[in-house]
This record gives sequence, C-alpha cells and structure tokens, in this order.
Amino acid sequence: MSAGGRGVLLVTGGGRGIGAATARAAAAAGYAVCVNYASDADSAGRVVSAIEGAGGRAVAVQGDVAVEADVLRIFEAATALGPLTGLVNNAGISGPIGRVADVSAATLDAVFRINVLGAFLCAREAVRRMSTARGGAGGAIVNVSSGAASRGSAGEFVWYAASKGAIDSLTIGLAKEVAGEGIRVVGIAPGLTETDIHATAGEPGRVARMVSMVPLGRAASPDEVAGQILFLLSDAAAYCHGGTLRATGGL
Ligand code: NAP
Repeated sequence: MSAGGRGVLLVTGGGRGIGAATARAAAAAGYAVCVNYASDADSAGRVVSAIEGAGGRAVAVQGDVAVEADVLRIFEAATALGPLTGLVNNAGISGPIGRVADVSAATLDAVFRINVLGAFLCAREAVRRMSTARGGAGGAIVNVSSGAASRGSAGEFVWYAASKGAIDSLTIGLAKEVAGEGIRVVGIAPGLTETDIHATAGEPGRVARMVSMVPLGRAASPDEVAGQILFLLSDAAAYCHGGTLRATGGL
C-alpha cells in the first residue's frame, strides 16, 4: 500500500459504516486519510490502526461537523498529513423513526445541522483548500446522499430524506461554481446498506424488514458503497460532475 501518493482524503464520519469502509479503501488506493468521528473514538482508532497496519497513513480526529470551530480543527488535522485532494461528506444521522406529525424540533435541528450545515461547512473548507483559484491543486468532493432523497421515506424519516435532497442540490450547484477551479463535485445515493444507522434510528431489524423491497434482493455492504465512492474520486470518473450516482440495488 502506498502512503499518500494520491494526497489527503478527509472522510467525515469515517469511524464506522460506509465512512470506515471508504477510509480503508482510500488508504489502499494510496490516499493518506483523515478519519473524522463524533464520539466513538475506539471505532475510529481501529480504522486508523488497520490502515497503518497495512502500511498506510491515517489520523483520527474527533469533531462535530455541525460546529464550525470543530470543522476548522478537522481540516487543520487533515492538512497536517499533506495537501488535501479529496473530501467525502459522509457524516449523517436519520433521527429516530417516526412520522412528521410526531417529530420533535430537536430531531429536525440535529438532522439538518449535521446532514446539511455540516456538509456545507466541510464543502466550503475543502473548496478553500483545493481550488486552483486559491492556490490549491484541485481535487474531488463526494457528497453522500441517499435513495431516500427521491423516495421521501414516508412513515420513517421524511426529514432525513429532505436533508439528502438538500445535499443533491449542494452537489448540483457547487459543481457549477467550482468547475473551472479543478474541483469535481459528485454525489452518491446509497440504498439499504448494512450499517449501525438502522439500530441507531431505533430499528435494528430494519434491513431485514425492507430487503424484500430491493429489486436486487439484498442490502449493500459498506465495502460495496465504498468502492463506488472510490470510483467517483478517481480519474476514471473524470467526466462525472454535478450528478449523483444511485447505488440502490434498483430501489
Ligand atoms: P453509521 O454507521 O451510523 O455511521 C455514521 C458515522 O457518522 C459515524 O462514524 C459517526 O461518528 C459519524 N457522525 C455522526 N454524527 C456526526 C457529527 N455530528 N460529526 C461527525 N461525525 C458524525 O452510518 P452509515 O450508515 O455508515 O451512514 C453514512 C452515510 O451514508 C450517512 O450520510 C447516511 O445518511 C448515508 N446513507 C446510509 C444508508 C444506509 O442504509 N446505511 C443509506 C443511504 C445513505 P461516531 O462513530 O463517532 O458515532
């Protein structure tokens, strides 16, 4: 494994689930990886240890993407590894499963702050560092959306679906803004994926309940989604810009 030949990739929420798989795959592809996490230091530490054990470079950095001062600190830690060449805007929460008529303002606040404000703050900081118009060397931003953005997630978490709709608009608009500055901006919309997010939402058996709705007949593994994110970051996706790749097994 090369140690950072592709520059530095920041993966927000890189300690568990899709983010952890992305961090590992990115290190194997030659990135030095900044693994951001919110509170689970052990999981993030295991990702870093696995990367280092395979000969790669990585650092774990605690920080809440919804807090501007934390975001600035996360980017400082990332760029201490070398020049930033990529951001995977992955950190996200759904809030507890429920209906719009019953949702609390606290859930709405948390979901939109982390999923939307957090993604914007991280995108802003990435552009400030990677833009060729600001002395950067260019790079790529992958925004992690969800198939929920177009399905609406009725009866589960409409607020989460709406936050991912906002992410899709971020991808479209930012791609146009920075097209001439060496930065590609793309999205990925995973479908049902085997991670902790379902248990955190209050339904550990959610994948088993939903899997019959997926035309491919199974959930995705985090590693599969990570593979698609690595493709979008790579030169093989050099003409992908402003769009969001659906990786939903047909759902
Ligand atoms: P997960 O297993 O629950 O992991 C979420 C990660 O985000 C954790 O590392 C967590 O940190 C981090 N995080 C949460 N809040 C944060 C904050 N405020 N600041 C920084 N990091 C924060 O989730 P996942 O399923 O891998 O989801 C990753 C992304 O994929 C999310 O954007 C999600 O919406 C999207 N997605 C998931 C699915 C699916 O079925 N799993 C489908 C479509 C889209 P800690 O480890 O410290 O808690």
